[in-house]
Order: sequence, then C-alpha cells, then structure tokens
Amino acid sequence: MIQIDAASLTDTGQLRETNEDSLGAFRPANRREMKRKGRLFIVADGMGGHRGGEVASKMAVETIRSYYYSSKEKDPSIALAGAFEKANRLIREKAREDESLLGMGTTCTAMVVLKKKIYFAHVGDSRAYLLRDGKLEQITQDHSLVAEMIRSGVLSREEARSHPQRNVITRSLGAQDSIQIDAPSSPGRIQDGDVFLLCSDGLTNLVSDEEIKSILEGASASEASAQLVDLANERGGADNISVQVVKVQKT
Ligand code: CA
Repeated sequence: MIQIDAASLTDTGQLRETNEDSLGAFRPANRREMKRKGRLFIVADGMGGHRGGEVASKMAVETIRSYYYSSKEKDPSIALAGAFEKANRLIREKAREDESLLGMGTTCTAMVVLKKKIYFAHVGDSRAYLLRDGKLEQITQDHSLVAEMIRSGVLSREEARSHPQRNVITRSLGAQDSIQIDAPSSPGRIQDGDVFLLCSDGLTNLVSDEEIKSILEGASASEASAQLVDLANERGGADNISVQVVKVQKT
C-alpha cells in the first residue's frame, strides 16, 4: 500500500492582476475507480490575450480530468496522451469561436499515481521534480527556446536566466493542430519517501533547485507548498506561482 500526503497552492504573485495558472488534484470517490485509475495531479500555465490564458489553463485541467477518468484505455500513459490531444483540440476550437481568445494556449504537466507507479504527460515549461534519496531531479524537459539552446550547447544555464526570450515556449496546448507530447511509455516505480513537485515557471524563475530541495525535505506537503509560494513572492512574485507537492510513503 502507498500513502500520499498531497497539497497544492496557486497564487497570483505580486505583479500580475490575474492568475492564469490552473491546478487540478483528483481522486476517484470509489475504491474500484481508485484501483483502476489512481490519482491525477495537473499544473497548467496559460497564456495569450487578456483572458485567454485563464480560459486555456482551466480548459486543459477540466478536459484532461474528464477524459482520463472516463477513458477505457488501460495504459495511463496512453490515456494521458489522448487527454492532452483532446484538450489541444478543444482549446483551438474555442479560440476559433471567440476572437478575444485567439492565440490562447497553456503549458500542461500531469502526473498519475497508480499502484506504486507513476506516469507523466507534459508539454511546455512547467516542471515536475522528484526528490529521492536526498537528490532533486527535474523529470520533465522544458519545451522552451532557452532550454533547447542549452541542450544544443549554445547557451549556458546562467545565461538562460537573463535571456530576453526566456519566456518563449516551443510547445503548448492550443498552439498548433498537432502536438508532440512527452508521455514516457514506461512508468516510474515509486519508492518509499519519494517527493514529487509539479510547478509553474513562476516558481522556478525565482527559486533555485537547491532551495526547492531543502523546503521539500523539511516540511509536510502543505507546509512545503506554502513555503515555496512565499519564497517566490518574497523574491518579487513576478508571475503567477503554482505548486503541487506529493509525498509518498509505502506502508
Ligand atoms: Ca508562468
């Protein structure tokens, strides 16, 4: 059996007027569904127009939840990828119907915890981290211009922090008819004491991996969520800040 201590928090930050991030944390009400589908956690960071970002990120969370839990597909990775494709399609349709939403899109990072295994799907520059055995590892790849430049060796991590185009993302839900989704087909195996963090870039632009690690190590899921958001706000809170902390214990 595994026990989960999970908490999430989203905050507008100090400079923005609206919060375009959306969070979802879902668990089926009945045991059979829980055994079949597990728990689902989502972070989405919307963008575009003056209300487009909010609409896109909310649509992503809601579409992925409903698709995932109603899908007959047994493999959670495939179900999640299908859910992302549907969200992409619906966001594009909605933007075509309503001119004020034109160009809206959203990042999306989703995680399923099912029977001691962990599944992911991801597009954009929100992140998932795993803290295991005292080491913090980013387990998603940023789909951003600067991250691609770092991977191809033309930019250093340090330079990326102040790069004028550091906010440009290369993949999102809503941007194009076809999307490339990172949804690894082999699940990760959960170990006792694993801590997962899903977060938007409003956190990671202002709080270092080292700081994230020490907060995740020292606190419950809800305390850690509050401390992460507080720290980003102390640093200026330039963007919306969203976190989901999931601490797993095997019993
Ligand atoms: Ca953001």
